[in-house]
Amino acid sequence: MTKNFLFVLLMFSISFSQDKNDWQTYFEKSGYLETPRYAETMEYFRKLADYSDVAEMIKFGVSPQGRDLNCLVVSNDKAFKPEDAKATGKPVILIINGIHSGEIEGKDASMILLREILVTKEKEKMLDNVILLVIPVFSVDGHERFGKYNRINQNGPEEMGWRTTAQNLNLNRDWMKADAPEMKAMLKLFSSWLPDFIIDNHTTDGADYLYVMTFGIEYFKNSYSETELMLRSKFAPFLYEKMNQTGFLSHGYVWLKDWVKGLDSGITEGPGAPRFSTGYAAIQNRPALLVETHMLKPYKERVFSTKVAMEAVIEFCSDNKVEIIELNGKADRNSIINLLEKKEKLPVGFKVSGKSVKTPFKGVKYYKEKSEISGAEKIVYTEEKENLVLDLFNDVQIVKEVSVPNLYIIPSEWSLIVERMRLHGVKVDTLKEDKIFDVKRYRFSDIKFEEKPFEGRNRVSFTINEYYEKRKIPAGSYIVSTDQRTIKVIVNLLEPEAEDSFIKWGFFNAIFEQKEYFEAYVMEKISQEMIKKDPQLKKEFDEKLSLDEKFKNDPNARLNFFYERSPYYDSQLNVYPVMKVE
Ligand SMILES: [Zn+2]
Repeated sequence: MTKNFLFVLLMFSISFSQDKNDWQTYFEKSGYLETPRYAETMEYFRKLADYSDVAEMIKFGVSPQGRDLNCLVVSNDKAFKPEDAKATGKPVILIINGIHSGEIEGKDASMILLREILVTKEKEKMLDNVILLVIPVFSVDGHERFGKYNRINQNGPEEMGWRTTAQNLNLNRDWMKADAPEMKAMLKLFSSWLPDFIIDNHTTDGADYLYVMTFGIEYFKNSYSETELMLRSKFAPFLYEKMNQTGFLSHGYVWLKDWVKGLDSGITEGPGAPRFSTGYAAIQNRPALLVETHMLKPYKERVFSTKVAMEAVIEFCSDNKVEIIELNGKADRNSIINLLEKKEKLPVGFKVSGKSVKTPFKGVKYYKEKSEISGAEKIVYTEEKENLVLDLFNDVQIVKEVSVPNLYIIPSEWSLIVERMRLHGVKVDTLKEDKIFDVKRYRFSDIKFEEKPFEGRNRVSFTINEYYEKRKIPAGSYIVSTDQRTIKVIVNLLEPEAEDSFIKWGFFNAIFEQKEYFEAYVMEKISQEMIKKDPQLKKEFDEKLSLDEKFKNDPNARLNFFYERSPYYDSQLNVYPVMKVE
């Protein structure tokens, strides 16, 4: 009896300690120095899903190299589908790890946090009021381009993934244009779940200082006003307090005013464009947190500070679950009311002015001296702590805003952009029969293409000239009503002035190409006939000759003057195919 009892006790303690060891993560076993490959990562996540009946793995896409894109859904109510999640009335928190897969703290932190919630249950209360969507690694192909030399500025882990995807695209520039298959999958996940709070985990580049953790929060006139207020007055103080309590020194994301001059030039804060995760969340009316640990701090500290940041978001969403869900709904409804009924303009361009305030900053002593290598001045950071006072530039001004039409009309031949819009959750209809519309149109001039590709595209800039016309729109054309939740996404994609619009990203570059040309001897004859018929035209021509020396000396431009005014000229050249109905 006693012997049996001891045996059982012995077996129990062995199995318990074995169990405990089994749940140790690769990162912990390595002495907090290494991060696992994708297969080992997924093995752990799958084990969590198998062990717990409140966690389920969903596959939301496949990478270009054929790897599954997975997401762990964690819900006490077993709400593993978007509709079920919505019915619980609990906020859904989306955690994105490894959008830049060399910056991988979030993955290792998520594994430990999920173990504490699901297995050891020391943090199971964290699940009472929220639903978690955890993406172990987003840029999975990039993650498997594994090596020691992928992040020159970064202090560990020993090996890590690469910044971009296998197609060399930076996923955190791809939120709007959605060229990467990974991003197409993410947008589908995003728009079907429509998370209430988004966390995007990264590691910084940049200056040296004492903070282990820095945060980017979108409260710079690009989010819904009440969401900004909540983030600034309630969430940020809560977050920094949590970080302080755990001893992880934190600060707003440090963006140097001048990357060469360093901290002396000051630091700046401002809105993220929608090509970035948090800027995208802002135009989807959802609060988000950009987590950026400091690259030079030990990996262990970076992982555990990321974990605390995630816990803080979970706790905040739990404490304010009703408010957050109501606020997100209100942001969606009021965006429509403000832009369509009250006719407010939507800001689509921002700048940070030259105005600054002084801010204390926990830095390290540094000095500048001439570099023998670069020949320029170099910054040398020392080990010595120093309380600095820096100029903080955070006066954000709106430099571009647009009025929002009731409808956009997209000709059927531009179905590619319609497909992309649908990924964003935009509803697009098709015109059933021909119909006449009064439309506002844009013609572009001063068209300039960027010489080098950026994210695989040659971006374009231009001047916009508006005009109106009455036009018969054929059946089969796409109609995008702006009276929908995604109104700000629609406007940012379709308004040429918005920095991440399709046209600026080069989706419409073919419209800038002239495809018919005149022969000089033909144009010569037509020009003479035009002058004969229209003396006013001759006057205009002579005036241009006398005023514009360059024009005067360019035979082709002189003939082109008449070509542009002839019926042979392509009326669609440089005209935006997308039309607005106001
Ligand atoms: Zn990053």
